[in-house]
This record gives sequence, structure tokens and C-alpha cells, in this order.
Amino acid sequence: KVRVRFAPSPTGGLHLGGVRTVLFNYLFAKKNNGTFVLRIEDTDQNRYVEGAEQYIIDCLNWCGLPPDESPVVGGPFAPYRQSERKSLYREYAESLVALGHAYYAFDTTAELEQKRKEIPNFQYGQAHRMDMRNSLSLSEHEVDALLDAHTPHVIRIKVPADEQVSFHDMIRGDVAFDTTLVDDKVLLKADGMPTYHLAVVVDDYLMKITHAFRGEEWLPSAPVHLLLWKYLGWKEHMPRWAHLPLILKPDGHGKLSKRDGARLGFPVYAMSWTDPATGEVTPGFRELGFLPEAFINLLATLGWNDGTDQEIFTLDELVEKFSMERISKAGAKFDFEKAKWFNAEWIKTATATKLMPKVKDVFADNSLTVTDDEKLAIVIDMVKDRVTLLPDFYQQAGYFFELPKEYDLGAVKPKWTDAKTDFFNMLIEVYNSVTNWEHTELELQFKSLAETAGIKLGELMLPFRVMLVGGKFGPHVFDIAAVLGKEETVERIAVGLD
Ligand code: GLU
Repeated sequence: KVRVRFAPSPTGGLHLGGVRTVLFNYLFAKKNNGTFVLRIEDTDQNRYVEGAEQYIIDCLNWCGLPPDESPVVGGPFAPYRQSERKSLYREYAESLVALGHAYYAFDTTAELEQKRKEIPNFQYGQAHRMDMRNSLSLSEHEVDALLDAHTPHVIRIKVPADEQVSFHDMIRGDVAFDTTLVDDKVLLKADGMPTYHLAVVVDDYLMKITHAFRGEEWLPSAPVHLLLWKYLGWKEHMPRWAHLPLILKPDGHGKLSKRDGARLGFPVYAMSWTDPATGEVTPGFRELGFLPEAFINLLATLGWNDGTDQEIFTLDELVEKFSMERISKAGAKFDFEKAKWFNAEWIKTATATKLMPKVKDVFADNSLTVTDDEKLAIVIDMVKDRVTLLPDFYQQAGYFFELPKEYDLGAVKPKWTDAKTDFFNMLIEVYNSVTNWEHTELELQFKSLAETAGIKLGELMLPFRVMLVGGKFGPHVFDIAAVLGKEETVERIAVGLD
């Protein structure tokens, strides 16, 4: 049975790449009737950030990718927070020491710093481990004395010299590493907490994880993990790995990092994140006005396609069409304009019912309250194909419910004439006596009046639009008038003439 996991460290906001990792794990699990596990990897107390775990959970919910097992919903392998599993890691680290694949290291921070100063590019490993204070370099007697005295120590993996370790990556095929380049990573820290390397292997094993999608940046850690799977005697249970291609900056030069957002003028986080220490807010796609469906859709296309030129996919379609073979090895450039296109497409096809609460939120942000849901639904359907980001709904639809906040006078003033004033005064009268208040009738009356007045239609339509909506935008002007109703339309013409 397929079991996948997303295993974030709660250190801050969730980057695009993080959510894409979630998505691919999720799609693979659902495609194979499997289970999607959320495990919080919070063993690094120095990097722990208040609120980050809740943010991750909220984010998965917003995206519509809820885990089947997690610290919140529980599950058969609970607890799902590594800090709550602390006591179980030591036994595995100790067993590796007993097997000769790991050792105690007593070096103090000062000693390590000293070494790093003396030796450029110092690596704690084959070349230098015998010069350090550990259970390989010291006598058994010395080691026992240090342990008896409760001397702070870590447990390090003993990486073998000149070995090739390899595995088959589901995306990149066979990947091999030379262990000479790998250092003796710490497995268990002096505070008794496991490091990421030990915890990820132990938990993937205990939680029966069968497949794991993670970012390419974790590839360099793979040899350590491979050795651990082997030394712990679990090799045949190792999950099948898929290292996902990087998400690149728009120009293709390098990884899109958390810091790029501000510089490039678009968000890189799924939802906005407030740093609890500084109060600094990093914007997110949700707050900018993306629909989660659009966000998920655009993430799916970063490194995957279905082999056709289809670009819009629902989550169900993604589950159905997802295939490992179509994930690319090459990094995927992130294009914010394209991201907005996805959102516009999703807004265009969303129903008014679905959009309504979001539009009301946008209106509320602009101190506009609307209670006429029937009218709002009509308006949403009229304007939704003009909206890219949800907040655009205020400009595109707000004027149906309140007088325009400002008028684009520059568009009409220079060419204004007394004849036009007369025309609109007459229009008020004509419209006042219209009984059949709908598009065709309003257009007919407008046109015949223009003909009588001898003014070109084009000269009158723009001022009429500005009177109704405030500027040069919006759907067909007679459609707008039809929805506004007689009283309101006439009133706006009068206000406009002032
Ligand atoms: N805790 C790691 C992270 O923060 C997990 C990496 C992995 O999937 O192995 O992303």
C-alpha cells in the first residue's frame, strides 16, 4: 500500500516549491489509493519558529490538500511531531555504535572551531576523524570515563572510505555517490535530539513510507540516508525517492529563493507569513487574490505536463493524469505573468456562488457591504472574465452597488459640448418613461435620441460609461444600465452632468 509523506521543518512560511512537493506527494498517493502523511520535523530547536506548524496546516487546507495522517488528525503511527518522538531515536543511534557504523564524539564547539580555522574546508570524516576526540581515536578506557562523567557528546555516522552508494531515483534514474566526499554527519545531538538525517530515516521506516517526493536540494543528503538504511538493516524497506526539479527564477538563473519575492515583485509564499520575532510580513498568493485551484494548477505545471498542450487541470484531473514519466529533470522557470493567467482562467470558469463569499470579502476590505445576493450573482457573472486577481472585483463590480468613487474626467471633459449636456438631459427624460427596462430597449432609445440630436454615437457612449462606472472599463454599458435599474441610472446621469 502506497504511503507518502510531506515532512517540513516548521521554520517559517511555505515557499512555492514546498507546496509543489506537497502536491506531487498528494497526487501520487491519491492516484494509487494511498495515504498522505504530514510529519513535522521539528528536531532542530534552534530553528523552531512559533506558529509555523499551524501555518503549514492552514496552508494545506487552503490548497485543498489535507493529509490523511498528521499531528492534527492523528493516525496509526502517531505521534507525527518528531519532537514528541525524541526518546525513540537514541536506541537506533546506539545500535549503530554497537555495530561499528557510528561513534561517540566529544569535541567541544571551541575545539571544532579551532580545527576549522587550522584546516581549510575541514570535514569531520575519514581524513581527520582520528585527530579528533571520539570513540574511534580514544582508548576504550578513556571513552568509558568520559561517558561515566556525562561528558556532552554527539553520535556521528562512520562514513566508509571509497565506496560507491547508489539508488534509483524515480525521476533522475540511477544516481551514484562516492562516499569519500561525504562527512561523518551527526546523527544524535548532545541534547539527545536526533538530527534530520537520523530522524528522517527512522520515521520513514517506522511510518512505513513507500515513496517520497522531495526537492532536488535534498539530493546531497541521499548518500547519508542510503548508508543509514543499509546499516540499520532496513534496505529493502527504503522508500522509492523522487527528487523534484528546482523552481527557477524567471530568467532561469538559479533557484527561486524565499528572498527573491520582494526583489522581483511577486510572492513566493503560498499564504502570507508574519515573522513572530520581527513582525515582518512576507506576502503570499492567497492574500494577493489567487484561488487555491489556480495556485495548485500552476504549481502542477512547474516540472510536469500531461503530454498534450492542456494547461488547465482540476485537482481530480491532476490525480487522474499524474504520471512519473512526465516529470522533467530540468528546473522549471517560474513566470508570474503566467501564474496570473492561470488565476484569471480559474476565475472565469468559477460559478458566481463559489466566488460570492470571496467577492464579499474584497468588498468588505473596501468598506462596501452587499446584501442583495441575487444582484451580486448577476454582476459577478457579468464581470468575472475581466478579473485577474480577486481584489480586481472591487473595481470591476463595486460600482454596481455604490456611486463611483472617482470619475475619469480627462476622458470626457476636453470634448464636452453644450449639445452633449442637452442630450443627457433629454436622455434622463426618455429613460424615465421607459417601462421595459432592459438592454435592447435602452440601446434603442439611446441611439434614436443620438440621431435626433445629430451627435455621433461614439461621442456619447464614453461619457455615458464614465457617468455609470467612473472610467473606461466594464462590460457593455447598456448591460450595466440594465442591472443598475432605472432610478439609479437616471440618478447617475444627473450626478454626472453636475
Ligand atoms: N525536514 C525536511 C524539510 O524541511 C524534509 C526533507 C525530506 O523530505 O527528506 O524539507
